[in-house]
Amino acid sequence: MTELDRDACEELDAEDPLAPIRSQFVVPEDLIYLDGNSLGVLPRAAPERVHEMVTTEWGEGLVRSWNDAGWFDKPLTVGDRIAPLIGASPGTVVVGDSTSVNLFKALIAALRLRPGRNVIVSDADNFPTDLYMIQGAVELLGGPERRLVDATAGVALGDVLDERVAVVVLSQVDYRTGALYDMEAVTRQVHDAGALMVWDLCHSAGALPVALEECGADFAIGCTYKYLNGGPGSPAYVFVSPGLLGSARQPLTGWMGHARPFEFTSDYEPAEGITQFVISTPPLVAFAPLEASLDVWEQVSLDDVRRKSLALTGLFMDLVDTRCPEVEVVTPRAEPIRGSQVSLRHPEGYAVMQALIDRGLVGDFRAPDLMRFGLTPLYVGYADVWDAVDTLRMVLESKTWREPRFQQRSQVT
Ligand SMILES: *Cc1c(COP(=O)(O)O)cnc(C)c1O
Repeated sequence: MTELDRDACEELDAEDPLAPIRSQFVVPEDLIYLDGNSLGVLPRAAPERVHEMVTTEWGEGLVRSWNDAGWFDKPLTVGDRIAPLIGASPGTVVVGDSTSVNLFKALIAALRLRPGRNVIVSDADNFPTDLYMIQGAVELLGGPERRLVDATAGVALGDVLDERVAVVVLSQVDYRTGALYDMEAVTRQVHDAGALMVWDLCHSAGALPVALEECGADFAIGCTYKYLNGGPGSPAYVFVSPGLLGSARQPLTGWMGHARPFEFTSDYEPAEGITQFVISTPPLVAFAPLEASLDVWEQVSLDDVRRKSLALTGLFMDLVDTRCPEVEVVTPRAEPIRGSQVSLRHPEGYAVMQALIDRGLVGDFRAPDLMRFGLTPLYVGYADVWDAVDTLRMVLESKTWREPRFQQRSQVT
């Protein structure tokens, strides 16, 4: 193992092929920002891109921009730019709506492709919106049943799969622990049971190379405001495998998913291909920062991102082991099952995190007792990891987190 001191970390930064990319983002000088898994930092070119969109495309071009500035095709053209980041071909991804809405589209489309089966499987540890959207679909349809994999109760995927299961919805990376599913093996297991697979990529796109088509995934969804730096509330995406594009039917039959929207007919007819998964007028202003971010993503190799991500998370955990014995590392040590975050358990995790933020180290907290630190390889370096763990050590040793001001719960944790 490398000698664990700050100089060694600086040397790793000096040799890092991704280090020059950081200058293309705005990373506040006085912060160590380890929350890019919740909200990515601002791409330096984004304000100019937004300004141009608003003043030129909107202000001057006005309605002409639907044609002249490519507004109408934006969900598709930006989808084609996200596709290489998730192992998808052109024409299989559209951007627009939120992750939750896209999950609903994919879920119902999958259910319709498996008539006669009426069970939706997910994981009790999945992100709540995924579980809630499944519940909503179950209530609306009045037929299907939700079944959950549950590690704490000892219920594995193999235990819940049978001939009644239509679709399985899982997040590739666990938002709490950072544990990573084997996409290929799980997708195969689901297909062997005759069901379809929907992957939620919120914590994997931009964090590691994703190979949707190689793994045979049927549908996928994900947000763009975390690792992809698209900005708060930036539009999400949905992927449909090329083999299902002819037959998949999504339920939110808005006019922009119509085969001929400008014929204004009274009956819906789905567009061919992925266009059907567009519902309605896209949030065009919100596309501008995302496009600035994708300009940066197109300069980097995802293998470099993965290599550095594993090195950063590994370094973080090694340093915590030797310097912060009061916390428990809950993120998997094994590289093949680790995403790009480190989660630490502490009974007063919320207050400890507030004390860290007060000292300029920004991570976040997930109930009941987990502190999360997102390691985003495009703008976090090895010396940052050193400084972060040093700050954590100081806060834990001095017990400043006991101050009453750090106990006050905010609305967003
Ligand atoms: C962040 C996240 C979401 C967010 O859903 P929104 O519809 O964008 O609010 C969904 N799923 C997972 C796994 C997430 O991590």
